[in-house]
Amino acid sequence: MRHYPVFLDMRDRTVLVAGGGEVAVAKLRLLLKTEARLRVFAATPDAAVAGWAAEGRIELVARAIEAGDVPGSALVYGATGNALADARVARLARGAGVPVNLVDNLEGSDFITPAIVDRDPVTVAIGTEGAAPVLARKIKAEVEAMLPTSLGSLARIGQAFRGRVEHLDGKARRGFWTRFYFQTGPRALAEGQEAAEAELGRMLGAGAEAEDGFVHFVGAGPGDPELLTLKARRLLHEADVVIHDRLVSPGVLELARREATIIEVGKTGFGPSWKQDDINALLVLHAASGATVVRLKGGDPAVFGRLDEEIEALETAGVRYAITPGITSASAAAAAIGQSLTKRGRNAAFRILTGHDVEGFAEHDWRELAKPGATAAIYMGKRAATFLRGRLMMHGASADTPVTAVENASLASQRLHATTLLDLPRALDATTPGAPTLILIGLAPRAAALALADMKEAL
Ligand code: SAH
Repeated sequence: MRHYPVFLDMRDRTVLVAGGGEVAVAKLRLLLKTEARLRVFAATPDAAVAGWAAEGRIELVARAIEAGDVPGSALVYGATGNALADARVARLARGAGVPVNLVDNLEGSDFITPAIVDRDPVTVAIGTEGAAPVLARKIKAEVEAMLPTSLGSLARIGQAFRGRVEHLDGKARRGFWTRFYFQTGPRALAEGQEAAEAELGRMLGAGAEAEDGFVHFVGAGPGDPELLTLKARRLLHEADVVIHDRLVSPGVLELARREATIIEVGKTGFGPSWKQDDINALLVLHAASGATVVRLKGGDPAVFGRLDEEIEALETAGVRYAITPGITSASAAAAAIGQSLTKRGRNAAFRILTGHDVEGFAEHDWRELAKPGATAAIYMGKRAATFLRGRLMMHGASADTPVTAVENASLASQRLHATTLLDLPRALDATTPGAPTLILIGLAPRAAALALADMKEAL
């Protein structure tokens, strides 16, 4: 981020604009929205500029800008439409230590003006470091469409009431404003500003006590943030506290609010390990303090996620909770190899297994699994490969049963390892250490999926 966005207080400040032609007019339209005093230097101003001067909205100085004009001003714009003249403006500004922007000249500027969506007092600024103006325009158009024009009015009405909500704690206050801006406010505003003000008054009178804490168990999916459910995305955005496993990808965590407390409680890997009891206690602690907690688990929380233990802890403590399912990694792995997990005539059942459990390597119904056409997804199976192969072959599985290991399913780092039951341990040795890997027994990648994977790996 070469350019850092800030919002500058323009009240009682002076902004100088050198130039009075088309280029300057475009800048001035934006600047006129601010509370700044605008002083425009132009010997031959456009009609629009002369008009604003006549209305007293800007001060017009009918000559070129001089060194003595600059000190004390907040910003200087070089908008003469002439590169040499703009360069002179930049020298004058820098001589006085005032930041300068030259229109359409990123390198010659100290700051750039973003594209703006104006719902004053709500302002959305969009910048692309000058790299993609077309993209900025597109984003602006989408944000324009997304933010109702009433938003500015609601925010303004809300502003006058801010002090009266201050006694509420952070969470209750957020809940109060969220209800007003997105539910009750827009409805009331449709009947006019007074109705919206009355609604706010009513809400204040009704009291907005802090609600109890709540825990959402949320499936984070296999890693690609686009595989989150809309609900997961919303809950992440609303959470005060996000407690997540190591498996949850950084791209998903990005979607949490900046102010949210984010806690990793990795149980595997080499870092400090959390005990299940401590995780349970942490959930209860945060919920009891009134926070909305998102307990984010990789894939689907109900698949090898130790969900029940955490739920029981919450029930014991009397904390309310809800579960939002996610896409489990078996689904993502099947998608990666272009195969379905069940198929008419091949397998009417599909099994989800773990490679190891509390006892060590997990035992299963090997006879069923060894049958021709049987398919299974093995989670946490990397270390159990030799054991798995032994058990399956002992129960009659063919040595050339297709097996595919998918590491980092759905992420850019996804890799496919197509192999056979016989070669499974060796294939797993080739996987990336530490990468979550799912083993699909009885499934080989479709040729197209394999070709695509090879192509990606060659890049
Ligand atoms: N609740 C999770 C599973 C947790 S158990 C889910 O529904 O997916 C952890 C195991 O899940 C890992 O050992 C690995 O086998 C598998 N896994 C999770 N994410 C994965 C991914 N992106 N790619 C491949 N396997 C993954």
